[in-house]
Amino acid sequence: MSKTIQLKGVSKDFKGDGVITKALNNITLSLQKGIFTSIIGSSGSGKSTLLSLIGTLDKPSDGKIFYDEKEITNLNNKSLSDIRFEKIGFIFQQFHLLPTLTALENVMVPLLARNVSYNKKKRAEEILYEVGLGEKLNALPSQLSGGQQQRVAIARAIVHHPDWILADEPTGNLDTESGNLVFNLLRRLNTEKEVGIVFVTHDSRLAEKTDRIVELKDGIII
Ligand code: ADP
Ligand code: MG
Repeated sequence: MSKTIQLKGVSKDFKGDGVITKALNNITLSLQKGIFTSIIGSSGSGKSTLLSLIGTLDKPSDGKIFYDEKEITNLNNKSLSDIRFEKIGFIFQQFHLLPTLTALENVMVPLLARNVSYNKKKRAEEILYEVGLGEKLNALPSQLSGGQQQRVAIARAIVHHPDWILADEPTGNLDTESGNLVFNLLRRLNTEKEVGIVFVTHDSRLAEKTDRIVELKDGIII
């Protein structure tokens, strides 16, 4: 069970056309298992970049990242992909479901190339029931509302039993009611399964309901 993710002095520069953007500047942050953290800040403040680094989708230009006190900053892509499969589930604002696959098939995608001890289809079905979509196993994304699509995406994010869910504005494309449903589902996963949540949001009303708020401005925690 993964208990902490730590960033120490982490910076991220993007270079292009001779211009360097300092997306993150010397970030030190410790995330604890079971805590629901929100990350807020205006557009361009570095929220998505921070989430990518926390989730090992991208590497820092400087600084170190630790999972349970073990440094993972410079591991190769295969090792990082294994760590993500073991520990991390991602959710995004644009649900990123595969349009030609059913809800059930979408949820099974992370498991396809992996050896697991459980029955993949049964597990995907269970998790769809758990997010309230037991009636929609065979629906295509286009046959589902935005809120339902995001719940399929959450099911896909947790089908491999991760310790952490990293969510980049998951309610940003949803009406208030569907957004609340998605938020409450994340909260339930947090309290019932002690999943650590890192929730990027523009919605201060939702951020105030989380355990901890981290605010970014110009790549710095304020
Ligand atoms: P937020 O999610 O808070 O809106 P981002 O993390 O997406 O902010 O971006 C932070 C800064 O880094 C912005 O100035 C953005 O333009 C820049 N940036 C992000 N990703 C890239 C990239 N792949 N290439 C170049 N610049 C980037
Ligand atoms: Mg963003």
